Amino acid sequence: MMKTDLAVLGGGPGGYVCAIRAAQLGLRAAVIEEQALGGTCLNWGCIPTKALFSATKLLSQASEAEDIGIAFDSPTIDLQKLASWKNRVVATLVDGIDTLLSKNGVEVIRARGALSSQREIVLSTGDRLTADHIVIATGSDTVQIPPFPFDHPAIWSSDDALTVREIPERLAIIGGGVIGLELATIYQRLGSRVLVIELLPEILSTADLDRRTVSTLKRSMTNKGMTILTNTAAESFETQDDYVVLKTADGAQHCVDRILVAVGRRPRTRDIGLEACGIEVDERGFIRVNDSLQTSVPTVYAIGDAVPGPMLAHKASSDGIRVAETLAQGHCQPSSYDLIPQAIFTDPEIASVGVSEAAAKAAGKATLVGRFPFAALGKALGMREPDGFFQVVADSEDHRILGVQIIGAEASDLISEAAIAVQSGLTLEAIADAIHPHPTLPEGLKEAAENALGRSIHAINR
Ligand SMILES: Cc1cc2nc3c(=O)[nH]c(=O)nc-3n(C[C@H](O)[C@H](O)[C@H](O)COP(=O)(O)OP(=O)(O)OC[C@H]3O[C@@H](n4cnc5c(N)ncnc54)[C@H](O)[C@@H]3O)c2cc1C
Repeated sequence: MMKTDLAVLGGGPGGYVCAIRAAQLGLRAAVIEEQALGGTCLNWGCIPTKALFSATKLLSQASEAEDIGIAFDSPTIDLQKLASWKNRVVATLVDGIDTLLSKNGVEVIRARGALSSQREIVLSTGDRLTADHIVIATGSDTVQIPPFPFDHPAIWSSDDALTVREIPERLAIIGGGVIGLELATIYQRLGSRVLVIELLPEILSTADLDRRTVSTLKRSMTNKGMTILTNTAAESFETQDDYVVLKTADGAQHCVDRILVAVGRRPRTRDIGLEACGIEVDERGFIRVNDSLQTSVPTVYAIGDAVPGPMLAHKASSDGIRVAETLAQGHCQPSSYDLIPQAIFTDPEIASVGVSEAAAKAAGKATLVGRFPFAALGKALGMREPDGFFQVVADSEDHRILGVQIIGAEASDLISEAAIAVQSGLTLEAIADAIHPHPTLPEGLKEAAENALGRSIHAINR
């Protein structure tokens, strides 16, 4: 029987970060991981998608460079090399986590674990681990829909899409959420003709995005040759000789080569002993937790994709740090999921933090809104990236910034300045009065803040 202070079940960005922080604070911590360290994020999520996103950006840049007098022959794509480079990026990071855990003195247990009591985990190796506290960080799984089973060779999950074994000539993607649209972007750049089928009236409907942001993305995607069908239910498919026919509820039939199902993820909370210990889950399988991320059993905490809230790696890590600090220091830092930034790797990228104008108004706030287009930024024009805009929403009384949305080049990197502003309660003036280097993309955020104050220099103020 092994014993530790903190046992963390799952070594994804929630679990490994929690264990490292706990060890830094003097606790003996162990991580139990049945697959690869780094979890979904490193192995099947954030990292492989972003590696492929950046690799395929080269293709779109090369195909458009002729306009500026630089021409390339048609690129050739060696899928095996592309996949092994992407795998090397993943492996480097996974190895790095192994090193970080060991240098911090965290014990890594390679096994499947399940709770056998409120302080004990039984391992697939036959051993048992007892701990003063347990953190459940088991993450999430891809949702499968019965008419489109993942064991059929024509049906892909996001994991299949990320192996990049083939480039289908015609790819249908069921689900116009973040994962579906990121993979749509990658495969469109690789040369697939992409059809996105979304059940709801709008794509990206679970994100709190301005209509203008979503319509800008839709216009850009359709201009690149993608077809986006909203209000459309994918019902079934039939296999023909060397293609499949996807049928939608409106009676239409779409001939495609592969169908990627990206309709969401569900918490991985089955068969880990929750019932036996009396740990409550909600109707969707998420573990119920209080504001300190403590479950209905006081010795057990739960974090990341296994609990309600945004399914994002940095949210999982933030949960992990909060739990480690609570256990080591005895108090929990307050946290609000409303202030967690999100980046969406489409073309153009989208990133947001805080609330949209509509959500601020719905909460009864009187707002000041400022915008600034990428097309008015010298840096963006020099990068040949004129699409998109910055939008800042602030409280009209005290000018506190409530939310920022950016659609355009490098939005995923640009949002961090806005995240500091929103999370620290900064005002429009704090951004507008800060001297930004020229020529850079972040000048767009400064100009949007100035625009909200009626004093943007490079845009006409309303
Ligand atoms: C295609 C895709 C792209 C994504 N892109 C982004 C992005 O760009 N940015 C972002 O923030 N998020 C992104 N995400 C979401 C992100 O991956 C998750 O929010 C994040 O990984 C959740 O972290 P976690 O630690 O809660 O769980 P996970 O990362 O899922 O880790 C859980 C770990 O627990 C292990 N485990 C589960 N059960 C057991 C058990 N019984 N015993 C032992 N081990 C167990 C699993 O093997 C896994 O390694 C993406 C997801 C996908 C699928």
